[in-house]
Amino acid sequence: MIHRLLCLLALVGLTLPSLAAPRPIVIAHRGASGYLPEHTLESAAYAHALGADFIEQDVVLSKDGVLVVIHDIHLEATTDVATRHPERRRADGRWYAIDFSWDELRQLRVRERVNPRTGQPVFPVRFPQQADSTFRLCTLGEQIELIRGLNQSTGRQTGIYVEFKDPAWHAAEGRNLGAALLDELRRHGFTRREDPVFVQCFDPVALRALRTVHHTELRLVQLLGDNSWKESSADYDALQTEEGLRNVASYAIGIGPHLGQILQRGPEGTAVATPLIERAHRAGLVVHPYTLRTDALPPGIPSIDALLHLTLDVVHADGVFIDQPDAAVRYLDRVAPPGLTPGSSVNTPR
Ligand code: CA
Repeated sequence: MIHRLLCLLALVGLTLPSLAAPRPIVIAHRGASGYLPEHTLESAAYAHALGADFIEQDVVLSKDGVLVVIHDIHLEATTDVATRHPERRRADGRWYAIDFSWDELRQLRVRERVNPRTGQPVFPVRFPQQADSTFRLCTLGEQIELIRGLNQSTGRQTGIYVEFKDPAWHAAEGRNLGAALLDELRRHGFTRREDPVFVQCFDPVALRALRTVHHTELRLVQLLGDNSWKESSADYDALQTEEGLRNVASYAIGIGPHLGQILQRGPEGTAVATPLIERAHRAGLVVHPYTLRTDALPPGIPSIDALLHLTLDVVHADGVFIDQPDAAVRYLDRVAPPGLTPGSSVNTPR
């Protein structure tokens, strides 16, 4: 039967790989952060409505050990902490989530991200700054309950894609962020590889420990930065070598590189693939690059569709982090073969 199907496909000019390739996943970066203040419940709900396969949460710990969904260990870029609690900044002039209880954090007002030095919005055309914002921080547990509720009421199945932020910094503060995250996920019933969860981190020591010390079965993704960003003490150049990637594959199922690590400028100014994705696929790793934005395209790329084409159909990433998930859903609905299950790519990198 399968043989006859293959012959038929060959006759009509279709090739098996294009049908066998699973549909890439759409990961809503900090929720639908292109449309609503990042990491709010509103942003997660909208990402769900726009058809994201996974919704991203960045998490840090509060003083009383609550996992709070926020991109930074600091508070001032997305909340009004500086005006509410001017006296509670540290000597470096910054306000840290870990210095506040969850009860205090939940009273802060959240707004569209600004540059704390200038007070100017990072993305001026996005959601307007409000004098009296109604947006609030939320906990990881609240986001999980929201997404589960929407999964039930809509019949869609959207997963979570959690990044634990700066575990080495948390350790210096006497906290084990990775262990706290696994505990929270376990409380919500997430323990198995097939559960709709990815856990990501820039720190390979802390990420590996989830597998080797805490023995989690959950799918882990190693984020890759540039060494100059100092996201962790890791050497990200070494992680991108054949040997580095084989090492990553011993504890993670995939990598999350930035766009500049998978695409580079060719001789005539066109974008061409770096060796990274092919190398990662050979090591058995899936690749979910960050971050695509309709309103901040890389130089020389004319449209979000052109960027999605390059990322998904030229260099064959297995998914994308995107601030406007609807753009990727629309693109995939047009070009991806029908009937394929989003997220089924985990064991079968292309
Ligand atoms: Ca993140």
